[in-house]
Amino acid sequence: MKGERLVILGGGESGVGTAILAQQKGLEVFLSDSGTLRADHRETLCSRQIAFEEGGHTEERVLQADEIVKSPGIPYSTPLMQKVLAKGIRVISEIEFAGRYTNAKMICITGSNGKTTTSSLIWHILRSAGLNVGLAGNIGKSFARQVAEENYDCYVLELSSFQLEGVYDFKADIAVLLNITPDHLDRYDHQLQHYVDAKMRIIRNQKVEDAFIYWIDDPIITREIEKLKPAATCYPFGEKKTTATAGYIDNGKMYIHTKEHQFDMELELLALEGMHNVYNSLASGIVAKLMDISDEQLRSSLADFRGVPHRLEKVATVRGVQYINDSKATNVNSCWYALQSMRSRTVLILGGTDKGNDYSEIEELVRTKVRALIFLGADNSKLHAFFDGKVETICDASSMEEAVNAAYRLAQKGDTVLLSPCCASFDLFKNYEDRGDQFRECVRKL
Ligand code: ADP
Repeated sequence: MKGERLVILGGGESGVGTAILAQQKGLEVFLSDSGTLRADHRETLCSRQIAFEEGGHTEERVLQADEIVKSPGIPYSTPLMQKVLAKGIRVISEIEFAGRYTNAKMICITGSNGKTTTSSLIWHILRSAGLNVGLAGNIGKSFARQVAEENYDCYVLELSSFQLEGVYDFKADIAVLLNITPDHLDRYDHQLQHYVDAKMRIIRNQKVEDAFIYWIDDPIITREIEKLKPAATCYPFGEKKTTATAGYIDNGKMYIHTKEHQFDMELELLALEGMHNVYNSLASGIVAKLMDISDEQLRSSLADFRGVPHRLEKVATVRGVQYINDSKATNVNSCWYALQSMRSRTVLILGGTDKGNDYSEIEELVRTKVRALIFLGADNSKLHAFFDGKVETICDASSMEEAVNAAYRLAQKGDTVLLSPCCASFDLFKNYEDRGDQFRECVRKL
């Protein structure tokens, strides 16, 4: 409401976007960041005369807020957040805030893995069909900034569990839940259920006229659905055809089958490889049909999608060895899918900041497909403790150059070198993009 004091904690993409939108709506805005702002963000705030501070929070000022928009990167456990909560100040996410100022149709995607790929694919399909559609959330330009500056009829929003934690009145017209596997447990007191609860907020406020698309083969999701009994119309997808499934696979084809729509397509024609991407394509296909995209349009978009960098991205073939950058595989499950889609012996580069990983999930695939493991991390002891004795060749690397050179030495003609780290990147790299970029560069130098 006009004149309300809004404090924004965190001056990243979503915080600055929120500041722009809040100022436009006449709120009294103050942005506070404990670290250093990016130069372009600082410049944006200064040029618009938005009040802000960096390098620390002025507690009194933060605690005077009527409402706080918290960056998804800030945990509730910090001393400041504890004081905010104790004072009873409403804390919301940028998604909740920006959602108040748009009537556009919301297509929201969450899951432990596949969010960016699926959001980008859905956006590609809708845009290619001529819809006026924005892509936001965890990706690109912030949702709030786009609500302030663009005029889309529809948004595809990629939502993380941290963004979902702060939604209350926001509603997805179409919600997609891809999968739930353990991730970010360091932020959820190592309690999987807290993380699951955050993910399930994607169906909050939905009604029967809304759609809920989910992966029916996921035991956690099906258990939650039993419990929560979603009000939305459900469109589950899975490997097998059942009376319930709106999307399934049979005999080398994907099928979409709802009351109003039927669609099929050969899996071979899909642009994205790997079983996980068949699921992503099924989910995207159901969204497309609910949005009345023609079969022809859908087929051509599923076939010509270029993929997203750092997700099973083919970098180059050097001396008969293919190099694949899957730097975004920051948990064990995404590495499992990467390994599963490998068609040759593989030299696997993994390691980094461990988020409470259990490597037994990939043990079988490592035993059957992996020629050598290269551990790339500041501390590889947990990886050694698990894999030593299980794989013949294991070596350590402390830089990407070392890792790629070792892979080059160990791989044989016809093999694949796969960077799919199972871990976050912050020990040796700025972020996963930096890790993937360095991989690409080192491969190109071979
Ligand atoms: P997110 O945005 O959820 O992190 P991405 O699309 O960026 O997901 O993919 C992250 C990693 O997960 C990549 O390694 C990718 O190959 C893998 N992946 C993509 N889709 C799925 C899926 N449906 N299930 C499991 N892993 C997946």
